[in-house]
Amino acid sequence: MKPVLPGAAIGVLGSGQLGRMFTIAARRMGYRVHTFSPDADTPTGQVADVEVTASYDDLRAVREFARRVGVVTFEFENVPAAAARAAAECVPVRPAGSVLHTTQQRAREKTFLAQSGFPVTPFRVVTSAAELGRALDELGTPAVLKSAAFGYDGKGQFAIQAREQTAEAWRAVGGKEGVLEAFIDFEKEISVVGARGADGCFEHFGAIENRHEHHILDVSFTPARIPERLESEAVEIAHAVMEELNVAGVLCVEFFITRDGRLLINELAPRPHNSGHLTIDACITSQFEQQLRAVCGLPLGSTRRLQPAAMANLLGDLWNRHEPNWQAATAFPGVKLHLYGKTEPRPGRKMGHLTALGETAEQAVQLVLAARASLERTRDC
Ligand code: AMP
Repeated sequence: MKPVLPGAAIGVLGSGQLGRMFTIAARRMGYRVHTFSPDADTPTGQVADVEVTASYDDLRAVREFARRVGVVTFEFENVPAAAARAAAECVPVRPAGSVLHTTQQRAREKTFLAQSGFPVTPFRVVTSAAELGRALDELGTPAVLKSAAFGYDGKGQFAIQAREQTAEAWRAVGGKEGVLEAFIDFEKEISVVGARGADGCFEHFGAIENRHEHHILDVSFTPARIPERLESEAVEIAHAVMEELNVAGVLCVEFFITRDGRLLINELAPRPHNSGHLTIDACITSQFEQQLRAVCGLPLGSTRRLQPAAMANLLGDLWNRHEPNWQAATAFPGVKLHLYGKTEPRPGRKMGHLTALGETAEQAVQLVLAARASLERTRDC
């Protein structure tokens, strides 16, 4: 494969914060970035060379976009597969549209994982309320019903406590195809972000430990507080998933660790992941630079961690009472502020994050939480 070298233009389908951080990494290495999405003045568009505003269904616009770049990648997996196919008629798309196809629909993703022999939460694909009822009989309660398509951050999910909630749950997730999962009373959640080059080389950032609030990632830190054996096993699984899917790019595997010490895959993200944001400040090569290297066919960089680190998300809720106190948070030495350029701070919306480095992961977590709490302090003047 001929590498796409610095100076070339890269096309990004999607325009959110992941595209923004990818673009910053790409521009630092001398690439130009074009972004494509239905929106204008986007987090990615604000830092890209070119922002194209068009519908993903406008395949003519997608082809025209693709013809002007050396390679196309995507920053979120809900880009319609037809758009990825149209782009692939003109330039290489990495990861390939087939990866997108498998991972953008929960039923397909779970079925792929189970059929390939990977450990997943017990699940049933259901297409009607009656099927949901039968699945509940098999898996028992509590259970979680998730819409099969286009779900993220806990959207389109319903926790079922009792069999009587079948109809209510079915309506709540939209009455279309769904995935019923056994509720896992997990010990903790971790993720492994891996990068795989088109030539099959592989690098990873080890296990990152994650804490969620209301189904949305709240805090991540590394190293995860888990036995070495579990970490190696999680990395091996992530590597095997990437091989099986033949991914060229970055992919994140989210795991539950059960109370009896087993790993279960919760879901895949075929792109840099929120839990990997701390790699920007903590590692020699960030997950975004790795994505760039992988999609351009450059050697992958060292993922060595310089120090333990923690990341805390900044959601729109923080803007509730007043503009966050940026002076207070930036006064913490060793804490880095990342904002995504979004103008509307809606509750639950990811507006930015803070990263802290520390001597230990615990110390980094304490520091990042203290810095985040300081954002809510009223200003002195
Ligand atoms: P998801 O959107 O599927 O990643 O779910 C978001 C979060 O909801 C997960 O990170 C877990 O904290 C929680 N969750 C999802 N599925 C389950 C499950 N089967 N059992 C227990 N908790 C879950």
